[in-house]
Amino acid sequence: MAKEILLVEDDDTIRTALIFALEEAGYRTLEADSMEAVQRIPWNSADLILLDLGLPDGDGLNFCREVCQTRGPAVIIVTAQDEEQDIIRGLNTGADDYVTKPFKLGVLLSRIAAVLRRRRREETETAANEDCIVCGPVTLCKSKTTAMTEGRTLQLTAGEYRLLEYLMENKSRTVTRTMILDALWDREGNYVEDNALTVLMKRLREKLGPDGQQIIRTVRGIGYKLEDGYEK
Ligand code: CA
Repeated sequence: MAKEILLVEDDDTIRTALIFALEEAGYRTLEADSMEAVQRIPWNSADLILLDLGLPDGDGLNFCREVCQTRGPAVIIVTAQDEEQDIIRGLNTGADDYVTKPFKLGVLLSRIAAVLRRRRREETETAANEDCIVCGPVTLCKSKTTAMTEGRTLQLTAGEYRLLEYLMENKSRTVTRTMILDALWDREGNYVEDNALTVLMKRLREKLGPDGQQIIRTVRGIGYKLEDGYEK
């Protein structure tokens, strides 16, 4: 799926031109012209934020700090503040890059691509280091009890998470419905009914989205099987 970029910029001319250029380059976009507008947007779903610092209702740096501390989207500060001290302060708050205005569009697009590439690499390395299981576009990290597909964290219920974890742990093996029911029962102590499993599986597939759900194969009359290269 195309990466999503949130542009926070109060200058209408720059914002309109940049949104146009980003969409031309194949990105999905979100936009905000103030800190107040940012708070009304699901900014955590973005892959990257282009952040102006001089905004009508405050300094973007506090927001930058908030995003970086929560290990949210990548941040590139795009600002007219071009003093050495400004740049150092910006990068010290955790921003991934700092671009000063006026900027060349081609250079900004290259920097965006570079930051997204670096993020992707870091995610893969983190997955390898943190007791994570990767299957196709889906990564499940047991140490953090989270699952992601293509860098996007999935909002799973406890039941959906456990089901996905069980399937991931048994990657490339066919698991029967009974095996799944036993596994979910064992851990929770409350019985999961057979048709509840059907509903749980349906919800999990919906949340995995069109790319993620391709890894779950239904083995007719038996159960399910997770396959790494199913999409290939
Ligand atoms: Ca501004």
